[in-house]
Amino acid sequence: MQAYTYVAEGKFALTEKPKPVLLHERDAIVKVTLASICSSDLHIKHGSVPRAVPGITVGHEMVGVVESVGSAVTHVQPGDRVTVNVETFCGECFFCKRGYVNNCTDKNGGWALGCRIDGGQAVWTAATVPRPCASSQRASWTPCPSSPTPTPSAASRRPMRCSRTGGTA
Ligand SMILES: [Zn+2]
Ligand SMILES: [Zn+2]
Repeated sequence: MQAYTYVAEGKFALTEKPKPVLLHERDAIVKVTLASICSSDLHIKHGSVPRAVPGITVGHEMVGVVESVGSAVTHVQPGDRVTVNVETFCGECFFCKRGYVNNCTDKNGGWALGCRIDGGQAVWTAATVPRPCASSQRASWTPCPSSPTPTPSAASRRPMRCSRTGGTA
């Protein structure tokens, strides 16, 4: 598949990558139907996000259809249309328990998608489905209304999040 990739500071490029596979029980594979570009993507390109890893697929604001889920995923299932949450988080650390999931201490916690792990400017993405944060029992992925044709307005919806501090993404 083609994926828009952070190659090096100042350079993004379409590259050929294999379709992602489920590696974790809380992962889901999502076929991306629409993805938007965020100023944070430009910050990566301009070298303003030191944690961004060259080689990753950028993109952290997307909608799509779940293709498959890991064994621990219960609140989305194959066929669901979802808005993928930009934040991945454990739900159990000091910050998650207080609702500050953007500061999650998990190595892939906070804003990792499209920054430190492959994101959604691609045909497919593999994204962790976080546990709901303790201060809010909202599901961390947002199911979208059924529609045969995704609309631009669906793509422009902000992913549901409950972070109150930390950097923007
Ligand atoms: Zn956490
Ligand atoms: Zn963003």
